[in-house]
Amino acid sequence: MMGGRHLGPLMAALLTLTACAGPTGVSSTAAPSMPAPFDSCSVTVEPAVAAPGGWSVVVGQGFKQGERIVWSQAAEDGTLHAGWDTDGFEPMQPDFRGGFGFGLGSAGADAIGHTINATITSASCSTTASWRVEADNEQTRPLPTQAPEQCATSRTAVDRVDDSTEHQVHVIYAIPSDGYDDELDSNGRIDASFEHIETYLRDRLDGNAARLDTCDGKLDISFLRLDRSSREYAAMRNSFIDGLALDLIGHGFRYGQKLYIVVWGGLAQWARLGVGCGGEAGYRGVAVSFLQTVDGETCRPIGEELPIGEPDTALAHEVLHVLGFPAECGANVDEGGHVADDPADLMYGIGHTTADVIDAGHDDYYLHDIAQCPDLADSAFLDPLPASPELPPEWPTD
Ligand SMILES: [Zn+2]
Repeated sequence: MMGGRHLGPLMAALLTLTACAGPTGVSSTAAPSMPAPFDSCSVTVEPAVAAPGGWSVVVGQGFKQGERIVWSQAAEDGTLHAGWDTDGFEPMQPDFRGGFGFGLGSAGADAIGHTINATITSASCSTTASWRVEADNEQTRPLPTQAPEQCATSRTAVDRVDDSTEHQVHVIYAIPSDGYDDELDSNGRIDASFEHIETYLRDRLDGNAARLDTCDGKLDISFLRLDRSSREYAAMRNSFIDGLALDLIGHGFRYGQKLYIVVWGGLAQWARLGVGCGGEAGYRGVAVSFLQTVDGETCRPIGEELPIGEPDTALAHEVLHVLGFPAECGANVDEGGHVADDPADLMYGIGHTTADVIDAGHDDYYLHDIAQCPDLADSAFLDPLPASPELPPEWPTD
């Protein structure tokens, strides 16, 4: 979907897929920590310079719940016209707080050198947004090289020296600018969670597990205090995971050789107690484990229950999503991107019972025999490395 015509929105189905922690629809509980309604509407599009291969984070605020919104955009010379509305693109519908958020697909090469001007109109309000398109931006340019941190460092925002050059899962404990620092990177909590996950996977994947980024054999966890406030992340709504991926790049973490699992100490739209908090996986090599709900309630802690608790299996679930599983070609994969044949399957969606099984019946994502369909057994992120390792579709190879 990334290569779609220049600036159209990501498909609604894709956005539904990223929000695997919760059903569609909004919570009915107003939260004191959320912003009050705005007097006028606004739409922000980040980053200010878009580039082919990147994406934009769109956040709207100050609209009326459920009202129809029409988006119309064109380049400064009138070319590259595109438009859509809430009837055809549900994620743009304002929720009960009057806001919406979505990830906007990559600009095409034909947009390079142009300024795109968008007008966003509803019955209650009208506003504009503009951004430049250039050949590259911070999402696509090579990252500045950063010397790795030494293994012994107690806390660092920089990736430590790698034990392996293979593809691997790097863990980040991140909090917003005003977030409470629970020191989960250094108090053993995240280490315990990933020990549980590793044992769980090896027991069910014939001795294999996801390769974790370690330094001298110890899990390499980075700590980041990000620049935005918790309110700002909550306001991103459906674009939260794309917004977080954008901010991670600003700190030198962009997917490729590594994928990033963020243990998130801030608010986020899809963190809901009723569905066990869980997590969310995006399309840019980033997944999140929620520590609190969008209303600020505390979630069940990771790394506590033995041999493995639901918060830890939820994390394993999101890791598999980032790796592209289950793929659509599986026999029982539903529209939300989950398997529908066994509620005890790790990749079952809302309403799962346990997470005891990895691919019940072996007909969806692990050791299946469906031709041309990705199989977890071949993932380049597995340890030990499979005989013919494969990366997820469209995964960056540089
Ligand atoms: Zn899911």
